Amino acid sequence: MKTKYTFLSENLCIHHGHVNTGILRDGQRALLIDPSGTSLQTTLNEVGITQIDQIIFTHHHRDSTSGFPFPENAKIGVPKAEEQWFTNVESFWNDSKYRWHLYNCHPHNLMLAESIPVTDTYTEATKINWCSASISVLETPGHTDGSITCLVDIDGKRLAFTGDLIYDQGKIWELYSLQKGQQTTDYHGFLGARDELRESLEKVRRSSPSTLVPTHGVVMHNPDAAIDKLFEQLDYCYDKYVSISALRHYFPNIFTEFEGKSDHMEIREGKPPPDFLQHFGTTWMIISENREAFVMDCGSPNVIKQIQQMQEDNEISEVTLFWVTHYHDDHVNAIPEFQEIFSCETITDSVVADVITDPLAYRLPCISPAITRVDRATTDGDSWTWNEFKMTAYHFPGQTYYHGGLLVEGLGVSMFFSGDSFTMAGIDDYCSGNRNLLGDGVGYNQCLRLIQKLNPTHIFNCHVDPAFDFSEEEIIFMLDTLSEREKCYTDLFPWDHANYGMDDQWVRCNPYEQEVIRGETVQLGVEITNHSNQPRKANVRPILPSNWKEDIDPIETTIHPKSTGNIQFSIQIPQHCDKIGRIVIPVEIIYNDMSLGQFREAIFVLNEG
Ligand SMILES: [Zn+2]
Ligand SMILES: [Zn+2]
Repeated sequence: MKTKYTFLSENLCIHHGHVNTGILRDGQRALLIDPSGTSLQTTLNEVGITQIDQIIFTHHHRDSTSGFPFPENAKIGVPKAEEQWFTNVESFWNDSKYRWHLYNCHPHNLMLAESIPVTDTYTEATKINWCSASISVLETPGHTDGSITCLVDIDGKRLAFTGDLIYDQGKIWELYSLQKGQQTTDYHGFLGARDELRESLEKVRRSSPSTLVPTHGVVMHNPDAAIDKLFEQLDYCYDKYVSISALRHYFPNIFTEFEGKSDHMEIREGKPPPDFLQHFGTTWMIISENREAFVMDCGSPNVIKQIQQMQEDNEISEVTLFWVTHYHDDHVNAIPEFQEIFSCETITDSVVADVITDPLAYRLPCISPAITRVDRATTDGDSWTWNEFKMTAYHFPGQTYYHGGLLVEGLGVSMFFSGDSFTMAGIDDYCSGNRNLLGDGVGYNQCLRLIQKLNPTHIFNCHVDPAFDFSEEEIIFMLDTLSEREKCYTDLFPWDHANYGMDDQWVRCNPYEQEVIRGETVQLGVEITNHSNQPRKANVRPILPSNWKEDIDPIETTIHPKSTGNIQFSIQIPQHCDKIGRIVIPVEIIYNDMSLGQFREAIFVLNEG
C-alpha cells in the first residue's frame, strides 16, 4: 500500500496510514501523536526523522495504538483516565466481568493485546512543551470515556488532534463506541454518548483550532462546519431511532423531549393474553387442555420453582417441550438446571443453537457462559404439532441477530412469540452489539415482513405481560423508518453501508475464544460480512504474540455482496509458550484496500500442564 503524508506547516506533518499520525518535528527529532501501523516508519524515513522523543495517544483503542514498534527511550504519554488500559490490559482480558453477562461496553474490547510502558499521563489542561511546539490537553470523552484532544500550537498555527470524536464533516468512524447508559447500563443506551460527544466537540470548538486532525478520517479545515454538520446528522439519526423505539416503553423518562411527536409511532395499547398462557420472569408457558406444559426460556432458578409449584398444585402435569427464543443471559442462565429436572426435548433456531451450545465461541452483549443442550435446531418454517397447537419456527433477527420467533396456532388464535423483539412502542433495538442489521431482507426488515405476512392475533414479548398487535399502517411506518435509517446512518459513516458503522461484528473471529495446548495446531476462522452492493476483497492476518517468534502469512479472499466470507487459519501453539491463561490474538484487516489495523481479536486460553 502506498504511504502518504502531508505537511500542514513547516514542522507539522500528518502521516496518512490506516489512521492519521501527527509528526511534530525539530530537525531530525520528532514527537508523534497516535502512531500506529508499520507504514509510519516509511514516512519517518522520507521526512528525515531519526529520533523519536515522545509519543502521545489520544485514547486506548488498539487500532490506533498498535503495530508501530516503540522506540527505546521515547516517552509515552496517555490519558490519565485510560492509563490502566495501556499499562495493565491483562486486568481487562482476564476479568470475567469483561467477558460474560456484558451489559457495559466501556472500556471497549478494542484494547491492546499486551501492556506497554507509559511514562506520562495527561489530564485536563496538562501542558506539554516540546521544542518550539506547545501542546495543551483537553479531556474530550465520547468515543471512549477517557479520550483526550491535543491542542497543538506550532508554526503560528493551532490544530486540534481530536482522536475519534469526528471523522469528517458530518461523519463519525462508527457508532458502537457511543453505546452508553443514560439511566441504566450501556446495554439500553443506543447512541447514549452523543451528548458527551457534543460537549467534547463544543469544548474543542471554544479553543478555536484552525484545523481538526482526527485519528480515523479526513483533516478538516473548517471545524465549525464539520462539527455543525455532525450534530445535525446525529440529531436526525437519533430522531429516526426514537421514532419506533421500544425503549420508549421501558424508559419513558429518557424520551420526554420527544413525547407526542406527530411523526413518531404512537405507543399501542396492550391486550389480555389468552387464559391458557402463563408468564413469569422472562418465561411464557402454554398449558394444553391435557395439562401438559410448553415452556419458553429459563432465565432463573425461580422459573423452575414456579413450574414445580404448578405441578404440585396440579395446574400442569409435565413439561413436554421447551423452546429457547435467544441467547441472552436472562433467558438461558438456568437452562442447564432446567434440563436436569425436566427431561423434555429442547428446540431452538439453528443460529441461536450455535451460540447457546458453545458460548465460548462468541463475544456478545448479555452473553451467558451457561451451556444449553439443543435436541433440535430449526430452520426457517420448520413446523410441528404439540397437542392441539401447530407450531412454526422462524429465524427472527430482531432484538439480536441470534434470535428465533415462534408462531403458535390453535384454539382460534394465532400467537407470535417474538422473544424480546417487539413491544407496543415498536422495535427492541437498543444495543448496537446485538447486531441489528439494516437493509432489505435482514434484521427488523425481515422480522416486520414476516409479521406482516403471518398477521398474528397476538404478539408476545418475554418481558411484557400484555399481548399486542400492530396495524398494517404501523408495520409500513416501521419499515419506512428503517429504510430511512439505512440512508441517514449510511450518511453518518465513511462506509458505503450503515451496517459497517453500526455492527462491530461485521468482522468476527470464530471461535472468539478457545482452549489450546502446547504443540497442537488449532483452527481460527475469521468471518467477514460484506454489507456493500459490490464484491469486496479482504486481506486478513492474525498477529501472534511477539515471543512466539512466528509470523502468519495473510490470506486474501473476495466476498460476494451482502454475504459473509470465512477465512481459516491453522496456527501452531509453540512448545516454548510460557504464558499461561488468556492470550489475545489481534487480527489485522485490509478491506477493499482500506487498512483497518488490528481491528478484531480472538482469544486462546492456554491451561497449565
Ligand atoms: Zn478509536
Ligand atoms: Zn433479550
